[in-house]
Amino acid sequence: MFDGSTLFLDRDGVINKKLEGRYVRFFEEFSFMPGAITAISKLSQVFQYIIIITNQQGIGKGLMTEIELDLLHKQMIHELKKKGGKIDAIYYCADLASKKCNCRKPGTKMFENAIKDFPKIDIVKSFMIGDSDSDIQAGNAMQLNTVKVNNIYTLAKWADEFL
Ligand SMILES: [Mg+2]
Repeated sequence: MFDGSTLFLDRDGVINKKLEGRYVRFFEEFSFMPGAITAISKLSQVFQYIIIITNQQGIGKGLMTEIELDLLHKQMIHELKKKGGKIDAIYYCADLASKKCNCRKPGTKMFENAIKDFPKIDIVKSFMIGDSDSDIQAGNAMQLNTVKVNNIYTLAKWADEFL
């Protein structure tokens, strides 16, 4: 438990369902993926840290504010906590994809920031779970174990196999 093992999770499509053609801006629009709450609860017993790494370009586009995103994340964490799940930190990138030197995945800036904040993170014992190629590319660039999920092979399915 205190071994630096870390579960890095993408958010949209892993923890919550994606919305077709738009961003999840408010908790009212946020619905957990099947089994995700229970999976995160179980995984919280196994991983020292659970850290979300998420691209949130909607902010850069002016479609939502950082205050709205923070509130949404507080509500999400509250729901997870009720069932025994924990999220140790959330790193998000608000930059537009078109911006030069952005922090977005497949770039590794958010992971590097997490490792600075949590120096005990042990890459060898850690995973990146995501539903996009950019998640997997970023995880691989960080030498993390990577797992690609989708609507069928979900975080919950992976957790059942892993645990
Ligand atoms: Mg995603």
